Amino acid sequence: MNEDKFNRSMAKQKTHVDASIAAASNEQSLIVLLTGDGKGKSTSGFGMVMRALGHGQRVAVVQFIKGTQSSGEEVLLKQHFPEIPFFQMATGFTWDNQNHAADKAAAQHTWSIACKLLGDPTLDVLLLDELTYMLSFKFLDEQEVLQALRERSPKLSVIVTGRGGGTGLRELADTVSDVKNLKHAFESGIKARPGIDF
Ligand code: ATP
Ligand code: MG
Repeated sequence: MNEDKFNRSMAKQKTHVDASIAAASNEQSLIVLLTGDGKGKSTSGFGMVMRALGHGQRVAVVQFIKGTQSSGEEVLLKQHFPEIPFFQMATGFTWDNQNHAADKAAAQHTWSIACKLLGDPTLDVLLLDELTYMLSFKFLDEQEVLQALRERSPKLSVIVTGRGGGTGLRELADTVSDVKNLKHAFESGIKARPGIDF
């Protein structure tokens, strides 16, 4: 492409983008769903937590995970932002695949914490990491979750991560990204790496 053609193409593109920006005039909080089987859902969620912090906003994190390995994001936030509400399902519970009732109780307890945060009028961004599995496992009632998300504090944006999650959540969310797995190092026998995988 010559210089002239490039400039004309860029000018045309700018006109389109400017028109789209002008048309997107609604200002409202969002539900962002990051799903799919590829890598990058939780890291993207934490990326938005970081963005919000950069703008001086108030954030909170609830992780519906059983893992014992602390992620870099958890260590960083707890060390440098101890005032940020940060909850994990694993905390105080023994996740046991043989104990469905205990797992369900742990999920419901963690959800009750999430519900309080959903109603907090001072919060700007809430990350509900790996929430989708609680719906897939039927540990939480889908309609109850959707209703709480719908009735959240008006200025609160919510980021939900995890594979699946059902059509209800997908329909309710304003932004949905389906992260596709093209390949993952793990499949070639490469060990999970701190800073990249956790
Ligand atoms: P990340 O936290 O890196 O953004 P994620 O949230 O998209 O990953 P999860 O399903 O929550 O993905 O899995 C978390 C862990 O599993 C990470 O260590 C990630 O690298 C790894 N992982 C994610 N996708 C895959 C995959 N398709 N195959 C193997 N391992 C994966
Ligand atoms: Mg994840």
